[in-house]
Amino acid sequence: MGLRIDTAAVAANWRALADLAPGARTGAVVKADAYGLGAARVAPALYAAGARDFFVAQAAEGRAIRPHLPEDARVFVLAGHMPREALDGLIPVLNSAEQFFRDRALRPRGAFAIQLDSGMHRLGMDNAEWAAVASEALAARTDAGTGPTLVMSHLACADEPAHPANAVQLAEFRRLTQGVSAPRSLAATGGILLGRDFHFDLTRPGIGLYGGAPFTDARPVVTLSLEVIQTRSVGPGDCVGYGCTWTPERPSRIATVSAGYADGLLRSLSGQGAVLWAGDQPCPIVGRVSMDLITVDVTDLSVVPPELEILNPRQGVDALAACAGTIGYEILTSLGHRYTRQWS
Ligand SMILES: *Cc1c(COP(=O)(O)O)cnc(C)c1O
Repeated sequence: MGLRIDTAAVAANWRALADLAPGARTGAVVKADAYGLGAARVAPALYAAGARDFFVAQAAEGRAIRPHLPEDARVFVLAGHMPREALDGLIPVLNSAEQFFRDRALRPRGAFAIQLDSGMHRLGMDNAEWAAVASEALAARTDAGTGPTLVMSHLACADEPAHPANAVQLAEFRRLTQGVSAPRSLAATGGILLGRDFHFDLTRPGIGLYGGAPFTDARPVVTLSLEVIQTRSVGPGDCVGYGCTWTPERPSRIATVSAGYADGLLRSLSGQGAVLWAGDQPCPIVGRVSMDLITVDVTDLSVVPPELEILNPRQGVDALAACAGTIGYEILTSLGHRYTRQWS
């Protein structure tokens, strides 16, 4: 019942992604509570699989997972060094000259990483900023050694292998890091799949660990089953749900299940062909998804089971996302807190 998370599948996906980039270390992105799946459980499973480099978005996320990981795990904070943030035991990824000077002033011996903007124009130092701080950054003495622990950048279009931005960013990252002996990192999941030119010293997969595109060979990680609260019979002339948007064409049996858009099952799933599964039998969502409830056409089932699955190997996060007009990342990170979560 509820949300089941297969941490053995997460570990297997990590190993499969590591095998795709044999010359590089493979990190693990566990931001947003490991894409909604529970970083306190997922991060130790990844450590056991061999991951030592973990990435979170914000310092508070880093502080939350730090106690769950052994000393030799490194926890990088992608937001970098923000004002008044405690960074003990964490490695800020410094995104600007301002962050760099703040960090050196407040943590003169602290390990740090650098993010460069190779063309996405979201985070990272631009050409001029990097030129201004590079010599000081590369010579900085920290408790971890000399210079940054990592110099990284991020690709804007890695999930589209033919997109010209990939080659442009690769060339720019190479140019910006010419002569840099610190370990370099460019690839998230999509970048790993672009091939060895993109792997550098460390990769940073996130979504692929959790079973999402573009890593289409991933093992599925989540199963989400929803309890049937009640069933009823309806027929032509009746309607189901808010707005009376759905009317049966035949005498039908409707099951009402206990989850809705408050649980991350987006309202845009209404009437878009998404199904709930009773074993191997698909049952269409009918009518509007409401805050706490979804109505499902179970007419063709001989027996209505006590629960129906909305995420499973037959309908994974990307398939559900396609019905909702979004991406698997958003489905995963929207999974709500009313589900009981079980990790195996
Ligand atoms: C989120 C993120 C990743 C992981 O990306 P996926 O597409 O989920 O593999 C890697 N690096 C950075 C900088 C990120 O923000």
